Amino acid sequence: MKNLIVSCLAGAAFVASSALIADDHYTTFDQQAQAALTPDQALQLLKDGNARFVAGDSIDRDLIEQQRDTAGGQFPFAVVLSCLDSRSAPEVVFDQGVGDIFVGRVAGNVVDTNLLGSFEFATAAAGSKVIVVMGHTACGAVKGACDGVELGNLTALLDEIEPAIDAVSTPVGTDRSSANTEFVNRVIETNVKMQVNELLRRSDVVRGLVEEGKVKVVGAVHDLATGEVRFL
Ligand SMILES: [Zn+2]
Repeated sequence: MKNLIVSCLAGAAFVASSALIADDHYTTFDQQAQAALTPDQALQLLKDGNARFVAGDSIDRDLIEQQRDTAGGQFPFAVVLSCLDSRSAPEVVFDQGVGDIFVGRVAGNVVDTNLLGSFEFATAAAGSKVIVVMGHTACGAVKGACDGVELGNLTALLDEIEPAIDAVSTPVGTDRSSANTEFVNRVIETNVKMQVNELLRRSDVVRGLVEEGKVKVVGAVHDLATGEVRFL
């Protein structure tokens, strides 16, 4: 079982994550398995994981065993930038274990230089195949930005969401505060798309990998009510 993933990926036909979870056992990717994965396959692993999460069928992992297995090295297949929100944890939402995915988290899932550097490490140096920028419904950061909340350093962070608010046009007289859920949802989705563009604009390294077909960058929105992640 230990080498199940490797044998699947090394074989002529890639067997999606159903093969990875035989007997409810899951082994973290090793270097060979990670290298054999395409960006589309990496994305599919996240989609499959989210489907398991939504169905209440998350894998019963032995996390301590995974901890031991990965102590000598890590080969995560994906990177997720998500909000700080306690209800939108990527490892949980995508049903992944120790060593499976890199995660960067900041309120409002906005990119900055430190995160870009981290993603460049995760892809160019550590071999991950897909970067997902994931927003979520009912995002307090986006709501706060819509309402012009000011609080210490949070003020500058929420300013980063301002362009997404400005980009969402509404008829005159529309409530553009957090009380308008439809408006907030549009800002959430727009912010994700803008952060994806920002990432590609500001990172020559990631953009180069994308142009070479080695990495994919996609946006997504996690629905807190259903658990479902909708890819944009
Ligand atoms: Zn949030």
